[in-house]
Formats: sequence, C-alpha cells, structure tokens
Amino acid sequence: VSRISNTVIEPDADAVCARSDAPLVELRHVDKHFGDLHVLRDINLTVRKGEVLVILGPSGSGKSTLCRTINRLEPIDSGEIIIDGQPLPEEGKDLTRLRAEVGMVFQSFNLFAHKSIVDNVTLAPRKVRHMSKEDATAEAMRLLASVGVADQAAKMPAQLSGGQQQRVAIARSLAMHPKVMLFDEPTSALDPEMISEVLDVMVDLAHQGMTMIVVTHEMGFARQAADRVVFMADGQIVEQGTPSEFFDHTTTDRAKEFLGKIL
Ligand code: ADP
Ligand code: MG
Repeated sequence: VSRISNTVIEPDADAVCARSDAPLVELRHVDKHFGDLHVLRDINLTVRKGEVLVILGPSGSGKSTLCRTINRLEPIDSGEIIIDGQPLPEEGKDLTRLRAEVGMVFQSFNLFAHKSIVDNVTLAPRKVRHMSKEDATAEAMRLLASVGVADQAAKMPAQLSGGQQQRVAIARSLAMHPKVMLFDEPTSALDPEMISEVLDVMVDLAHQGMTMIVVTHEMGFARQAADRVVFMADGQIVEQGTPSEFFDHTTTDRAKEFLGKIL
C-alpha cells in the first residue's frame, strides 16, 4: 500500500482546527421529496469541527442527496442547515461564498477537461477569491505536491490516471480553503489498484484535522478514519455510533442486513 503521508496537506490554518465540540455542520429536521418520493426524512445530524463522519447505506437510501443538500446543490423542503453557525442562504452571493466553504469531491472526477491540471486548481481561487496568478499558482503547486501529483501539473486531465485525477479534484477543492469536505463515493469509479492512493490522501486530510463527511463503501476506511458512522436507509438515519459500536455491536436489522451483504 502506497502511503502519501510523508507529505503534509496544509489546506489552511482556518480549515484545520483541532477537534472540538463546536458544531460545524448542523442539519435540523431536514425533509426533502422528489415528487412522491420522500428522499430525506427528518434528518438530524451534527458534525463537529475536525470530525470525520462516514455515511453508509444501501443504494438509493439518500446518501448523495444528503451531501448535495449540504451545499445546496439540492434545495430542501423543510428544516434547517447551519454551517459554522450560519444558516445556509437561499441564493445569491452568500451561496457562492458558502459553496466555497463546503468542498465536494464526487465519484466522477469532474475536472475541467480543456484546462491543465494546475489551471484546474487555480481557476476558482482566481475567480472567486481574486488571487493573483502567481499566488494561486504557488498555492496550487503546494497542494498538488501534498496529494502527490505536482509532476503532473502541466498535463491535461485525460493524460492522468483516475486515481491521479481524483487526487487533483481533492487539491482543487482544498484550494478554496473549505471548512468542511464532502466526499460522495470518491473511489467508486476507480480501478482497484488506485483506490488506496486516494484513501491515503483522505486519511492524511483527516489527520490534519479537516472536518469531513464521507459516503463510501470502503469499510477499511470507515473503521480506520471515521470518528462516527451513520447508517442510512430509506431516507432516514437508522443507526449511528463509533466504528466499533457500529461494526461490532450492530443493533438494527437494517444495518445487520446491509453489513451481511457487503462484508
Ligand atoms: P444514494 O446516494 O444513497 O444511492 P440518492 O440520494 O442518489 O441515494 O437517491 C435517493 C433516491 O432519490 C433514489 O431513489 C433516487 O432514484 C432518487 N433521486 C435522486 N436524485 C433524484 C432526482 N434528481 N430526481 C428524482 N429522484 C431522484
Ligand atoms: Mg449516491
């Protein structure tokens, strides 16, 4: 297993905070429908600063929708979402700012295909944070080094492996100095031999104190890196606990059935 932990990921002094009781992300009574489908049912969830939350659950249980509501890629029907003490704004400028505070890495790499790797990372900091080209490039190179792909900076995304592209996607999110990083099945589209290089970067990020919400089927990562595991089914949080509580002392039939299929 390749380790990238000898490089230090330093997204931002503000982003890496010591784990504390301060809530960073709060969902209160969040409900959402897609037409007749009640996709999120009274979700109540608090993620503390520096906490690594892993969300597990069968396909269709609402995990991706939950992630997407946290940065308002999806509107909610009712309830509240509070990031670092601020309610999520409905629209406008504040929403742009807020999305910058909530980094998101998807299953598909979503790099801009017609921009070089370094330009992928500098684009948003230059546009949204109004950084100079020199400063943005210097920071991009530092972030690309921290995820082990600095030598790929001048290439185009298609010239990189899937694992390298996903590490660039993480660096690109970190360039906005997010307060929390959301990962929605970041390794599901990768060839098996590339999964660990991406998980290693995520483990490093967790060790740096980044607040993370991670949807994954990688149970090794959940056991190793999660502070808390949340199990969803049918749009509800059915069970939650520490990794050892959840995996070794599963209480609900739904979670037992799920673990029986995947372990
Ligand atoms: P998961 O990520 O846990 O697999 P999703 O959040 O993607 O689950 O989906 C939950 C449910 O919502 C599924 O039944 C899915 O088909 C449905 N769904 C997701 N997105 C939409 C959408 N944009 N419009 C209608 N239904 C959707
Ligand atoms: Mg999903």
